[in-house]
Amino acid sequence: MTEGLSGCVFCRIVAGEAPAEIVHETDRIIAFRDRNPRAPVHVLVAPKDHVDSAAEIGPEHGDMLAELFVVAAHVARAERVAESGWRMVTNTGPGAGQSVFHLHFHLMGGRSMGWPPG
Ligand code: 5GP
Ligand code: ZN
Repeated sequence: MTEGLSGCVFCRIVAGEAPAEIVHETDRIIAFRDRNPRAPVHVLVAPKDHVDSAAEIGPEHGDMLAELFVVAAHVARAERVAESGWRMVTNTGPGAGQSVFHLHFHLMGGRSMGWPPG
């Protein structure tokens, strides 16, 4: 881990240095509950290796992203929202509401969802 990432809260969760309720993990992916849930099911799905945001995704991330979405579908089933429906969203940049600059997808479900998200 580079020095700049030691202050990244999600890198600290991955390293076991900060607490989180982890619901699933693989070699490359971690899924844990958002500490400020905005839906009955609100899980953050993230790569263990630091990527700042979706703006930094390149072709080398293809396998990791495929695994991330497989994990998301697994978590949706485990959290019993597979039938009722769920949403995955990643805020990219402060103007879109990104507040943690370690790539993550919000997996949300358990209530009806408005569109477009505001
Ligand atoms: P963003 O605003 O970047 O799209 O999403 C960041 C999310 O991370 C927010 O929903 C916020 O509640 C959550 N979050 C921030 N810090 C922590 C933390 O230390 N632990 C957990 N579990 N969630 C966090
Ligand atoms: Zn990080």
